[in-house]
Amino acid sequence: MSRPVILCVDDERIILSSLKSQLMNNLGDTYQIELAESGEEALEILDELIKSQVEIPLVIADQIMGGMYGDEVLARIKTILPSIYGIMLTGQATAESVGEAVNKAGLFRYISKPWDEEDLVLTIKTGLRSYYDQKSLLKQECYQSILNQILKLVITAVSFEEQLSQALSIILSARCFTSLTKGSIYTVDLEQADLEWSTRVAPDMVLVSQLNEGEVPESLLEHSETDGVELITETANIRYYRAPIILQRQVVGVLFIYIDIAHDDGPQTREFLSSVGHTLAGMIRISQYNRALEKHSLELEKLVEKRTRELHQALRKQEQLNDIFLEANKKLDYFATTDELTKLMNRRCFFERADGEASRANRYGRKALLAILDVDFFKEVNDKFGHQVGDAVLAKVANVIVETIREHDFIGRIGGEEFGLLMPETSLEDGKELCERVRLAIASTKVMIGSHCISVSASMGISEVKEEESTIGCAMIRADQALYDSKHKGRNLISLN
Ligand SMILES: [Mg+2]
Repeated sequence: MSRPVILCVDDERIILSSLKSQLMNNLGDTYQIELAESGEEALEILDELIKSQVEIPLVIADQIMGGMYGDEVLARIKTILPSIYGIMLTGQATAESVGEAVNKAGLFRYISKPWDEEDLVLTIKTGLRSYYDQKSLLKQECYQSILNQILKLVITAVSFEEQLSQALSIILSARCFTSLTKGSIYTVDLEQADLEWSTRVAPDMVLVSQLNEGEVPESLLEHSETDGVELITETANIRYYRAPIILQRQVVGVLFIYIDIAHDDGPQTREFLSSVGHTLAGMIRISQYNRALEKHSLELEKLVEKRTRELHQALRKQEQLNDIFLEANKKLDYFATTDELTKLMNRRCFFERADGEASRANRYGRKALLAILDVDFFKEVNDKFGHQVGDAVLAKVANVIVETIREHDFIGRIGGEEFGLLMPETSLEDGKELCERVRLAIASTKVMIGSHCISVSASMGISEVKEEESTIGCAMIRADQALYDSKHKGRNLISLN
């Protein structure tokens, strides 16, 4: 690689050779010293050097020359290479014209002829130091800007692969890497890898992003002995920076950038690439977390779905059980209150309701009548035709009573062939008339069983529920006595007590 050049311009050969020997004596062979005898020649040399990508930090020019004057030469060079430092040498200028030249040509210093060697060398060394400080500062700014852009990518809502592609483009398009146009980023396969890097000794790398298709030898993908940034020369023309991407002390990826031979390999560049590696490692880490989070969310959703399904099933089962319980309760209630044969209230239910009615009548000073009805000679029906026929006769009698009584009256089977009838809000006269209708209805009913036609009659005893009575007990006894009277007097009769 070519050394940086210090360009000296003077129309006197003796001065040029003196300058060259003094510079070589004091700067060693770090710099190449190029000489030009006119401004025109200086610009030609400059053009060639730039084409060869040679760095030119400093130019020293005489002011008074045939052809182009020094200040003009320096001004033109400064236009072509803004970062160059210019020094003017002359012995024939006034302070005023030198000041003008300094401003016009952007001079770094002015040195008068004949010069003191020590002074010259000090000036040149100061200029060179400033040049390199300035260059380093610009490079640092450039690196910082790249890192900031990559950091912003970390929080950009694009896929991990897209983040890495954009990061690579940013690195390669940077001003300080003007001659770099190729690069690749490899990482371990995130689909395969889990959060436990430590279990992976040498992860297999996969290409995630590539710009301008650089060839990366397989060997460079293998885990390197050094964890730092390396400059690797493969052939005379191919050099790579290999920057490992390290996460929790494991190499989880590699960044390659192809560099030009002319690019200086300084600690600044290595530090920068190392920082890029850290940032890319952060991207990988966040991407892993995101993947893990997505996986976890999916599992959670499935679990919630499963639990919801189970809950619905349990609820449906509970509903079915409730229906069964309701049905069972209805049946229980039915069997607890209903006489199976006649479908009338059973004895317990009838007494409960009749007591309730007596209590109501007692409380509000209302009237109520109780009647007991007994089927005449029912034992004979059972004896003659059998119990099944007897049952059918009882059911028919119950039916006839139900059809004859009024809406608010109620009836229950209180014994074998004995029925109770409660008539709320009913006077003695009205009750007697109703019972008469019931008696006649029963007496005129014929029950057809097979070839038999059976007629039955019923005797009834009626009693008022008295005002002071809050249960049906006493009225029951009185009605029973009246029934006895009806039976005694010949049956198919109604008696009052
Ligand atoms: Mg001269």
